Amino acid sequence: MTQRPSLREKAILTEVRRRGVVSIQALAERLEVSLMTIHRDLNKLVSEGSVEKARGEVRLPKRPIDAEEGCLMCGKPVPVRTAFVIRRDNGEQHRACCAHCGLMALMMAKEPGQAMATDFLFGHIVSATQAHYVIGSTVNVCCVPSVLSFSSRDDARRFTRGYGGRALGYAETLEHLKSLIHASMPHHGEGRGVD
Ligand SMILES: [Zn+2]
Ligand SMILES: [Zn+2]
Repeated sequence: MTQRPSLREKAILTEVRRRGVVSIQALAERLEVSLMTIHRDLNKLVSEGSVEKARGEVRLPKRPIDAEEGCLMCGKPVPVRTAFVIRRDNGEQHRACCAHCGLMALMMAKEPGQAMATDFLFGHIVSATQAHYVIGSTVNVCCVPSVLSFSSRDDARRFTRGYGGRALGYAETLEHLKSLIHASMPHHGEGRGVD
């Protein structure tokens, strides 16, 4: 069970995020509590993976590699809500910030492997080829034109009634993105002559 962080824990996190490294002594003074209290808060934050404690100092943790790695296409951090994961046949795993970048990456890959999208409404993981997509809606949470993933076609269609855009299946979405790429790269030599 995760408890909500106390105000003091939030204050500690804010300090650490702002400064990068803070001495535990300074934290105790700043928050006007004993060292023991600060250590107790810190131990909780450390156990949650929010900070690291070493030699009397607190710092932000070095993040695990997959969290540190941004979108394979644009390098942006990957939001949980729109994450798109590509597993290559050689076992490598890459993440894209959203279906826009994820599908672009699939399109450009010689061996796309398997891909998973995140249902925008419910957060389920759904196979990218089974997913339905809403392209060009007014909900621009990541890349533009926005491409949002849905596990059900009905959800995707309903979404377009509220927020515009077009609800498309996997293959149609790829086609649509492909046409956008060609439109935005008129001098792209390699693409010439390809349908
Ligand atoms: Zn991206
Ligand atoms: Zn994106």
